[in-house]
Amino acid sequence: MHMSDNKKNPPTNAGNAALTIDEARNAILNLVSTTSETESVALLDSVDRICAEDIFARQQIPRFRNSAMDGYAIRFDDLSASTSLNVVGESLAGHPFTGTMTAGTAISITTGAKIPDDADTIVIMENTTVSNGTLTVMQPPSRHQHVRNPGDDIAVNAKIVSRLQRLNPSDCGLIAAQGIGTVSVTRLPRVGVFSTGDELCTSDDTPGNGQIYDSNRVSITALLKRCGINPDDLGIVRDDPSSLQQLLNDHRNYDFILSSGGVSVGQADYVKDVIGQNGELVFWKVAMKPGKPMVTAKLDNGALYFGLPGNPVSSLVTCVQFVIPALQAFSGEQYTPPLTVEATCTSELKKEKGRFEFQRGWLSANQQQLSVATTGLQDSHVLSSVSQANCFICLPQFSSGAAIGETVTVLPFDSLPGL
Ligand code: AMP
Ligand code: MG
Repeated sequence: MHMSDNKKNPPTNAGNAALTIDEARNAILNLVSTTSETESVALLDSVDRICAEDIFARQQIPRFRNSAMDGYAIRFDDLSASTSLNVVGESLAGHPFTGTMTAGTAISITTGAKIPDDADTIVIMENTTVSNGTLTVMQPPSRHQHVRNPGDDIAVNAKIVSRLQRLNPSDCGLIAAQGIGTVSVTRLPRVGVFSTGDELCTSDDTPGNGQIYDSNRVSITALLKRCGINPDDLGIVRDDPSSLQQLLNDHRNYDFILSSGGVSVGQADYVKDVIGQNGELVFWKVAMKPGKPMVTAKLDNGALYFGLPGNPVSSLVTCVQFVIPALQAFSGEQYTPPLTVEATCTSELKKEKGRFEFQRGWLSANQQQLSVATTGLQDSHVLSSVSQANCFICLPQFSSGAAIGETVTVLPFDSLPGL
């Protein structure tokens, strides 16, 4: 698989030039080994999981010839003799007609009901009148009209779901239609999330002088939950290396450990050093804004460590861009770049050259025209402008912003898992 076959030379730039977003993501995906563990779950619990097996149709769908409409089943050739037919019975969904249809007869039929072997065409109710058991076809159908043929949706042995496909509601419906009630899916990663910082307190505490409530742990956990992953809450680690070392010693059974804060160049930013002593740092600078300082490491026990930036917007963006693709790759899902659209910018956007920027915006459609406006301050501590946004406006590394009326590339939150 693409995630594990290129581990020889992961780009390492600790202390050197920043990586592009794609380089960073590729480097991360190369570090992820897809799990070989699977579990069997009830079909309804399989939605949004990664299927661990090809699933083939045991039976054709439709299972039998049935009517697409409410109306009458007829023998098409009878209409050349007369448009009046004798109604001799009915076929309801689940209650087939068991008699025989001779020349000049019809039966009433409902949607999904079995069509008798003798009939070949359905006349819809609206095109008929009935009086005293005699059906009059007002508007002739075409031959075979409204007949659903066996297997026209799915043939026997057709592959209905592929291994490593993420199961959506229609996939679950296809599986259910085969009478299958349990599905084998790949294992979800075990993830632990914690925050770093002496300034942080929780909603149970009263913030002291200079303290703030920890919000990153909540937003990161919420992002992961939306991706179907329930991480363990590993709390807050204070700004001293031994506390972080203790946490790493205490939690050795995770596939992924995520932290936020402490990865910059301030005096309390020790995460990179401690992590470097517990594994191999892969890179730590990405040329993107928000979110430049970030630590990625393969720990000696095999876990992947992501030290996300402390600023709330930066931790969110790096989690979406790097961590979630890695968590999905663990369960076997191939990374596909999210869909973007082009839109007319209705705000002036400021930017310095040098880093790719995700600016928060509101995308709207007016008479087939897409336009996008900024949602306000773009600083990496301003979470409200993410909360008010429905998209990122993507400004390339060497752009210096955008003028009103310019076409820009927009990444809708709807195409990003988690957001
Ligand atoms: P740091 O990278 O640790 O220097 O943090 C950068 C900024 O993010 C500082 O303003 C921190 O107070 C803030 N910050 C760090 N961690 C969190 C958190 N868990 N929740 C909210 N803000 C945080
Ligand atoms: Mg800090």
